[in-house]
Amino acid sequence: MNKKDVLVTGGAGYIGVHTIVELYNSGYKPIVVDNLSNSSIKNIKGAEQILNDKITFYQYDCSDFDQMDKLFGEQINIEAVIHFAAFKSVEESVREPQKYYTNNIGSLEIILDLMKKYKVSNIIFSSSCTVYGSPDILPVNELASFKKAESPYGETKQLCEKLIDSSKTNSISLRYFNPVGSHKSGLIGDCSSDKPNNLVPIICEVASGKRNSMKINGKDYDTDDGTCVRDYIHVVDLARAHVMALDHILNNTNIKTAYNLGVGKGVSVQEVINSFEKINNLKISYEIGPRRVGDIEKIFSDNSKINDELNWFPIMSFESALESAWRWEKNHKKILKKDSN
Ligand code: UDP
Repeated sequence: MNKKDVLVTGGAGYIGVHTIVELYNSGYKPIVVDNLSNSSIKNIKGAEQILNDKITFYQYDCSDFDQMDKLFGEQINIEAVIHFAAFKSVEESVREPQKYYTNNIGSLEIILDLMKKYKVSNIIFSSSCTVYGSPDILPVNELASFKKAESPYGETKQLCEKLIDSSKTNSISLRYFNPVGSHKSGLIGDCSSDKPNNLVPIICEVASGKRNSMKINGKDYDTDDGTCVRDYIHVVDLARAHVMALDHILNNTNIKTAYNLGVGKGVSVQEVINSFEKINNLKISYEIGPRRVGDIEKIFSDNSKINDELNWFPIMSFESALESAWRWEKNHKKILKKDSN
């Protein structure tokens, strides 16, 4: 079979690497570029182990025009780009907004310019539910207008979607809710080099003893138990949606659209901790802290558009996400220990 080449930027990252596995298993040839600034080559090795094959990998920086120009010049059969490469911490973006504007928007501009130069006309963009700001109506659907973003990170996603909309390329923006969990092998996962900011990786660090305790960021929100509500989606379900979006964009003309990618159910921070304890039979030490700047009180998705148009439905359970997140944490720790010996 003649495999279609797909450029995956940020493919050594958490969502990127899970998508590589799904792409490969669906008959695509992922070509991966990642500068490894906040990811790890271990994820590429892990994917190669899962797939029992080599992955084409470039350690280039998407915000370096010359490097990316070289890549596009060498890989002349690229039919689509899946653009994951970006900084992703809401918290850091509040502290260092310029870093986010420059990198997240700058690298997309380079990708779009090079797509035009090399006549690649399909892009799947890694967007986020943060584009909605604090939505008026829940569950939020794709018709909701972008309200003021709660963080520079969210604003970069709004601006990137607008940039893509104003380009001539076919595009699908996938607005992720909260990805959690890992591939069942425990060989790939979130390898972010800095300290994790996201809830489930932090819970895992408390479980493994890497942290003594954690804080719930505020318990005075207008929600059932006072803690923030999010829509947690298994990363493998999220990765599968990229393949379906890719099939769709390659088999149709004039596609310019966006889809919510969530399960459609709101779960509170307190409920995540309780479920993690129950499923993995562990005790998590936590206390109540202040609210986190940039946090949205409550958000969950209406996913009916992607159900109807791409026939995508979540198939992985929340329980399996929390189980696999813990498996990855234990495995990852072992790998790191082995490396340091
Ligand atoms: N959260 C928390 N303690 C932590 C990390 C996160 O209470 O140590 C909360 C966070 O404030 C938010 C929810 O968990 O309400 C999900 O946070 P995450 O960073 O995972 O996702 P995002 O805020 O980007 O939706």
